[in-house]
Amino acid sequence: MSTVGIRDVRKSYGQIEVIHGVSVDIDDGEFVALVGPSGCGKSTLLRMVAGLEEISDGEIAIGSRVVNDVAPKDRDIAMVFQNYALYPHMNVRENMGFALRQRRAPRAEIETRVKEAARILGLEQLLERKPRALSGGQRQRVAMGRAIVRNPNVFLFDEPLSNLDAKLRVQMRSELKELHQRLGVTTIYVTHDQIEAMTLADRVVVMNGGVVEQMGPPLELYDKPRSLFVAAFIGSPPMNFVEGLVDDAGRLIADDGLALPLPVAPGGNDRITIGFRPEHLHLADTGWPAVVSVVEPTGSETQITARMGGHIVRVLVRGRTEVKPGETICLTVRPNDLHIFDTRTGKRRDPA
Ligand code: ADP
Ligand code: MG
Repeated sequence: MSTVGIRDVRKSYGQIEVIHGVSVDIDDGEFVALVGPSGCGKSTLLRMVAGLEEISDGEIAIGSRVVNDVAPKDRDIAMVFQNYALYPHMNVRENMGFALRQRRAPRAEIETRVKEAARILGLEQLLERKPRALSGGQRQRVAMGRAIVRNPNVFLFDEPLSNLDAKLRVQMRSELKELHQRLGVTTIYVTHDQIEAMTLADRVVVMNGGVVEQMGPPLELYDKPRSLFVAAFIGSPPMNFVEGLVDDAGRLIADDGLALPLPVAPGGNDRITIGFRPEHLHLADTGWPAVVSVVEPTGSETQITARMGGHIVRVLVRGRTEVKPGETICLTVRPNDLHIFDTRTGKRRDPA
């Protein structure tokens, strides 16, 4: 196992810089997720750790060794991709042992390691099968097995679950988490799916346009997003936002005339954007009036879509509710659950 140090790393393709100085220090055994919208540079950063892309500037260290000029095969890493790239003409056993055969490891050792990985992944009964005779989830496990047999210091994953259907994705996600808890190998996991990042990782790195927006434990990002970008990106259904100016009575006045009394004083007199999560809105006798437009029960919870002036807000209530479309409800949010951002800079602002 090993630490990974990413220090002020940049990447340019020709004249165009796509990674603008990223630094992340990853602990031994830590599971770090890189998450962000498509094109923000996640794969590029991961491929630089793997040695598949040259590092334009900065430094990457695996353990105490700077690996900028170390070939991928000498980095002690194993990478699992979105398309598993299994060899179609090889059976599971041969696919899993391939890297070791390439390295000319002794046959007995290959056999032992393949068996052990197959046991960990529940593939023992499938060792003689060809990939075409496997389900998507089984193929994904073989791809993982191929990484495990190499006994690497670091696992790198690039959207490994994206090709699976929703149900299988959730199942494989918890298998992956269990695997990490069992093996304890330092892991960097790239995904565009914030739920995947939040549920799997010890620490989440949110990227946007080639820079790190924020990194921290999942719930820290959820509780204290440092920017509008992170606030909007983390959480499902997403946070509600209302933008405007605060008047002398401490109300937020939006451009459509909506006036919301605030439970905290935001301070300053710039334009602000307030954010509140659907699950932090509560139905009460008094509060912000909203007209219900849609009620969506799922049994365990109910999602309500409502209008406050020209704004559409989503409310998530636990269990069931008698609320009907057309009805006016009153919504409250606790002071601690109200997020305030400077509209111009997009930065979080702490109440005065
Ligand atoms: P992500 O994995 O977050 O979706 P990528 O790391 O694949 O994003 O891409 C980051 C940026 O780098 C994108 O703007 C992409 O177009 C650009 N890029 C990636 N690979 C190349 C390449 N080989 N040549 C030029 N630009 C590239
Ligand atoms: Mg990618």
